[in-house]
Amino acid sequence: MKKRILSGMRPTGKLHLGHLVGALDNWIKLQDEYECFFMVADWHALMSEYENTAVLSECVIDNVIDWISTGIDPQKSTLFIQSQVPQHLELNMIFSCLTPLGWLERCPTYKEQLREIKTRNLNTYGFLGYPVLQAADILVYKAEKVPVGEDQLPHLELTREIARRFNSLYKKELFPYPDAILTKAPRLLGLDGRKMSKSYDNTIGLSDSEETIKKKIQTMFTDPKRIKLADKGHPDICNVFSYYSIFIPQMKNEVSDWCRNALLGCTDCKKRLALGLIEKLKPIHKKRQELTKDKGRIKKILEEGNKRAKAFASKTIQDAREAMKI
Ligand code: SF4
Repeated sequence: MKKRILSGMRPTGKLHLGHLVGALDNWIKLQDEYECFFMVADWHALMSEYENTAVLSECVIDNVIDWISTGIDPQKSTLFIQSQVPQHLELNMIFSCLTPLGWLERCPTYKEQLREIKTRNLNTYGFLGYPVLQAADILVYKAEKVPVGEDQLPHLELTREIARRFNSLYKKELFPYPDAILTKAPRLLGLDGRKMSKSYDNTIGLSDSEETIKKKIQTMFTDPKRIKLADKGHPDICNVFSYYSIFIPQMKNEVSDWCRNALLGCTDCKKRLALGLIEKLKPIHKKRQELTKDKGRIKKILEEGNKRAKAFASKTIQDAREAMKI
């Protein structure tokens, strides 16, 4: 029998290339090997977007269109909306009661985000408890594996701690101790060389038009020492070159040669990158257009996914209540 995994994405904006190489490409591979539950994590989005909830409903359908356009297959995987499966909150409530506060206060990402994010007040009860909700998300499906980046490992350890605590308190091996599937994603930077993020306004969206892609790529930072056309460049420190490596690897050697021997200017190098990227994104755009015209189909996929997820999660809650004699 296939092992089960759970992963999700917060619907806080349009998806971009960072989501494609950082998560979706990996999800696409996992869906053949595992029984996958992929959720639109709208409760998690609410924790930072509670003052701007309009963005959540706008993004749910749009994000799922991107998932399917890039290759997530609703026939193979269960796609659902977290807030439509109330059992996540029921298990979150149970886990909240048995999780010591110190476990949450020690969480490195909690401390880091409180320090770094100044645009909204995250000093809330919900935000402190979000790793508990994550544990509930994972364990309500008894997921044995969770695809994560290195920064999420402490959260997964917390999930295992919570599972251990429940199993030992109620003397029943109900929950598994899920392992990480460490995501080996290529490091894709934004147009300005910082981490790709909508808050830095440095993304290339999966739904960006061809014209927008061309314009955005022309703004990309390059080798700062290559000022004139005759200057020889250093592709290894150029962000444009890293895009070639990730999206059009078959051109890597050629581009390196153009650059190191000053055979082509940066403007032309970027123009060719834009054309290659547009070509690469064509099948996604085509599928996207088709699905955007038929949002009813996406809603139906999500309804079916919600139903499947709910059926699984209800059974877990029933078992948890029995173990707790509630
Ligand atoms: S030629 Fe291309 S790879 Fe070289 S510095 Fe310019 S943009 Fe970068």
